[in-house]
Amino acid sequence: MYTKPTGNDISFFKETLGADQVITSTDDIKPYTIDKTKNLVGTASVVLKPCSAEEISKLLGYCSQNSLAIFTRGGGTGVTGGAVPLDDGVVLSLERMNRILEYDANNMTLSVEPCVITGNIHEFAQEKGLLYPPDPASSDECAIGGNIAENAGGPRAVKYGVTGNYVLGLEYVLPDGTIASSGGKYVKNAAGYDMVRLLTGSEGTLAVITKALLKLVPAPPFAQDVLLSFNTLGEAVDTVTRLLAASPLPAAIEFMENDAIKLVSESSSIKIPFATAGAHLLIKLEADSAQLLKKQIDNLYKIPGISDSNLKTAKTDKESEYLWSARRGIRDAISRVSPVFFAEDCVVPRAAIALFIKSIKNELSSYGIDSLLFGHAGDGNIHIDILKGKTEDNRWEELKDELRLMIYRKALAFEGTITGEHGIGFIRKQYLEEAIGSGAYNMMKKIKEAFDPKGILNPGKVFQD
Ligand SMILES: Cc1cc2nc3c(=O)[nH]c(=O)nc-3n(C[C@H](O)[C@H](O)[C@H](O)COP(=O)(O)OP(=O)(O)OC[C@H]3O[C@@H](n4cnc5c(N)ncnc54)[C@H](O)[C@@H]3O)c2cc1C
Repeated sequence: MYTKPTGNDISFFKETLGADQVITSTDDIKPYTIDKTKNLVGTASVVLKPCSAEEISKLLGYCSQNSLAIFTRGGGTGVTGGAVPLDDGVVLSLERMNRILEYDANNMTLSVEPCVITGNIHEFAQEKGLLYPPDPASSDECAIGGNIAENAGGPRAVKYGVTGNYVLGLEYVLPDGTIASSGGKYVKNAAGYDMVRLLTGSEGTLAVITKALLKLVPAPPFAQDVLLSFNTLGEAVDTVTRLLAASPLPAAIEFMENDAIKLVSESSSIKIPFATAGAHLLIKLEADSAQLLKKQIDNLYKIPGISDSNLKTAKTDKESEYLWSARRGIRDAISRVSPVFFAEDCVVPRAAIALFIKSIKNELSSYGIDSLLFGHAGDGNIHIDILKGKTEDNRWEELKDELRLMIYRKALAFEGTITGEHGIGFIRKQYLEEAIGSGAYNMMKKIKEAFDPKGILNPGKVFQD
């Protein structure tokens, strides 16, 4: 059990951080009570803005002794309510811990504080001729600590993997205030349990990450974006299978089904090529030389059904940006036609994508509900946006949980799982046990208890109780 902070607690926070870094005014706290989750607003008594692991250690030790709930916050772009504070708790905002600490050219590593914006890491790596591959679409706002806590992915996951594949080491503060670190500037590590992996994706429930050691890779010198159009989603998915068997792998294979293409072309200024197609694939090819890149494009033409009539290459950066703007413009287009909607991000085996989508679309249309499906075909991560449209408010409220459960059960039936990127957070906690099974669920709860016996870190998230 945890309690609401008292005047004595606030005095301790001010002594530890300085009064300026402790926010207690209701208006100033407000922006910290939400993230990007639709229709979710929490409550907090105070926001703390520490600037070092040592300060966080003092704060956590104190909160642990006094049973105060702590909600760690990075960029606040989560879409499952992970950073939303509950029950007048304490927000631990890491916004001041935003420095790149060390670039090690020989080991190709970067040491960063937890609130460095991911896009700044991309830029830093690019200036060194290197690449930090994880590329969530929120990169201009989200922070690396939040990416690690959510194990964030993005379009480049097909070739490069997700955030967890680029974290070599972490410094973290445990709920009792102990500062610990795991991993380092080495590739192999067999010394005990893999704490870095365990903390990656732990959604702020096990420890506060205060420093991360990231792996950078050489940047591909040549890249080209290609849009392919198909009559049916099935044809597009067959092509994905062929592309994945090819060498080298494309860096990204994104798809949009017919309804998504139609909506973007009809409701935005983007003149999307092949606007009447049944499905699109947007592919990013990378190579070490212009000749090798051309060879990859030539190979695309060897795939049955691909010709000049359904292939468009981006000749310039501007054209590339334009092709990607259609894919990125989907959410804005949805907001214009149906400001109320909810978004799921199930993942299924890649070979099951077409059948999974067909099955979801059929089921949703039997409810008379519109939906748009798009996402990362290369890694099976499907974004399913369910639109309220003209559905009556009462009916919509009744339907939301039912539809969510239907979608999750279908993902499980297709041997997938309920989220590939966005995590469990607050809004999906009642579905986790069914998704992963009681054995794994109960073990996860024991791990949580071992790290955080008093349950002060992000209570009310991930687990139902
Ligand atoms: C427009 C948009 C596009 C998006 N696209 C993608 C995408 O392509 N791929 C994807 O994976 N996600 C995407 N997201 C979701 C979101 O951006 C990611 O989950 C991101 O990783 C969250 O980072 P953040 O810094 O904003 O974390 P926050 O929202 O601040 O926090 C998220 C969780 O991490 C915990 N946390 C934050 N920092 C720390 C820390 N230092 N130590 C311990 N726990 C911490 C919080 O307690 C919370 O549980 C998108 C969101 C939006 C709004």
